[in-house]
Amino acid sequence: MVRKLKLLIDGQWLDTQNARPVINPATGEPEAELSVARSEDLAAAAAAAAAAFEKWKRVSALERGNMLRKCAALMRERAAAIGELITRENGKTLAEATLEVQWAADYFDWFAEEARRVYGRVIPARMPGVRQMVLREPIGPSLGLSPWNWPVMTATRKLAPALAAGCTVILKPAEETPSGPVELVKLLVEAGVPAGAVNVVYGDPAHISSELIASKEIRKVSFTGSVPVGRHLAALAGQHLKRITLELGGHAPVLVFDDADVADAVAKLATFKFRTSGQVCSCPSRFFVQEGVYDEFVERFRQACARQVVGNGLDTQSTMGPLTSERRLHAVSAFVDNAVAQGAQLLHGGKRLGARGNFYAPTLLGDVPPQAQLMQEETFGPIVPVVRFQRYEEAIALANGLNLGLSAYAFTASLATAQRLSEDIQSGMVGINSMAVSIAEAPFGGIKDSGQGHEGGQEGLEGYLNTKFVSQAG
Ligand code: NAD
Repeated sequence: MVRKLKLLIDGQWLDTQNARPVINPATGEPEAELSVARSEDLAAAAAAAAAAFEKWKRVSALERGNMLRKCAALMRERAAAIGELITRENGKTLAEATLEVQWAADYFDWFAEEARRVYGRVIPARMPGVRQMVLREPIGPSLGLSPWNWPVMTATRKLAPALAAGCTVILKPAEETPSGPVELVKLLVEAGVPAGAVNVVYGDPAHISSELIASKEIRKVSFTGSVPVGRHLAALAGQHLKRITLELGGHAPVLVFDDADVADAVAKLATFKFRTSGQVCSCPSRFFVQEGVYDEFVERFRQACARQVVGNGLDTQSTMGPLTSERRLHAVSAFVDNAVAQGAQLLHGGKRLGARGNFYAPTLLGDVPPQAQLMQEETFGPIVPVVRFQRYEEAIALANGLNLGLSAYAFTASLATAQRLSEDIQSGMVGINSMAVSIAEAPFGGIKDSGQGHEGGQEGLEGYLNTKFVSQAG
C-alpha cells in the first residue's frame, strides 16, 4: 500500500493534483506518494504562518515549552513506528532509525526549557527616572529546509528552536524521506501547537525555496544540506535580506596518534562511520594515522568492515542499510574508482552489493594519495580512506587543508597533544577520544564552507531572535 502524503497548511491537510513518488532504497519499490506544492499553496502557507505568528508569539514561554515537552513524550512513545517509516524511505537500520527519533526528542525537551531562558537585560540609565531595557523577540515566520539523511532529527532542529522562540514554521522536508517529518508534525499538532504555527510543504525544492525566501512573510531560513545548495540559498537570502542558518557538508578529519588506544579508536570510529551508511555530515571521513600504529589501525578497521552485515534495514540482522538514493550509489562508486585509479590500495569492499537496492560495501582504502578526489570532496558514503603521517604539524596541515570545518576527531593518550590540537584544528566541533559532538545541550555548527549559525545548545535559539532596545522615561 503506497501512503499518500498531503500538505499541511493552516491546520488543513491538502491534496494537490500533482504527485511525486517516494522510493524505498532497499527494494526500489514506491513507498509513498507526496503532493506537490503549487505557488498558491506556498502563498497560503506563508500567509498562515504570518497570521499564526501574531498569536503564537503571545503564548507564554512556559506554555510553549509544555507543548514541546508533550511532543517529546509522544515521540518516545511512538519511536519504533516512526522509525519504521524512516527505514522504509532512508534505508538505515530500524534500531538506528528508532534511536534517531528518541534522540530528536531530547531537542524538544532542551528547547522547551530554553524557551524560559530567553532573557533580556536592564542597562543602567544615564538619568534618573529612565529605564533602559534589552528585549529578545521572535524574528517571525521561518522556513525550515531539512535533508534526507536524518529526516526526523534535522526537521526537529528546525522546528524545536523556532517554536520555542515563538516563531512559526513552514517545514519542507526532503522529498526522498518525508514520512518521518510528517508524523513528527502530527505529534506537534497532537501536543497542542495551533493551526498555522507549523505547516508542511514539499514538491520542487528550487521552486519552494525561491518563492518562500522571496515572500514578504518569511523572516528566517534554516537549511541543512550540501555546500552548493547552501551557497545558492545564502545568495537568495542575501538578495531578500533574510536571516539564514546553514548546516552544510563536512569532511571530518580523524587524527590517530602513535600513543592512542587503537582498539578503542577503531571501535568508536567504525560505529560512527557506518551509521546511516556514512551519509552523515559529522561522520569521520578522512583518516590520518601516525606511522607507528598505521598497520594495526588498518587491520582492525578491515575486521570492522568485514563484521558489517549489509542488508534491508528492516531485517534485524542488518548492521548497515543501503544508500538513500541511486545518485549517492553512483557518487560513492565514482569516488572509490577514482581513488584506486590514483594508486590507493583497496583493502576491503569497493563494490555495489546485489543488483536490487542501493547497497554498497563498507570500503577500506590504504595509502590514499592526496590527489584522489575523495580526499578533497565529502564522500557521504561508507568509505574509509587512510593516509599515513609522521609529525604532528603534518597531521594538522592535512586536517586543515580543506575549506570545510564541521567536525574533527583525534585519538591520543597525551593531554598536551589533546589540548594543543583542540586549538589548532579549524572546525566547529572537535571530539578527542570521543565521537559525541552532537547533543541537544551543545552548539552544533560549522565554520568555513561548512556553514554558519548553530543548532542546539544555548546558541540554538539565537538565529530565531531579534534584539530590541527600549529606552523609557517616566
Ligand atoms: P544535493 O546537493 O543534490 O541536494 C541536497 C538537498 O538539498 C536535497 O535534500 C535537495 O532536496 C535539497 N535542495 C536541492 N536544491 C535545492 C534548492 N534550490 N532549494 C532548496 N533545497 C534544495 O545533494 P544530495 O545528493 O541530495 O546529497 C549529497 C550531499 O548533500 C552530500 O555530499 C552532503 O554534503 C550534503 N548533505 C548534507 C547533509 C547534512 O547533514 N549537512 C544532509 C544531506 C546532504
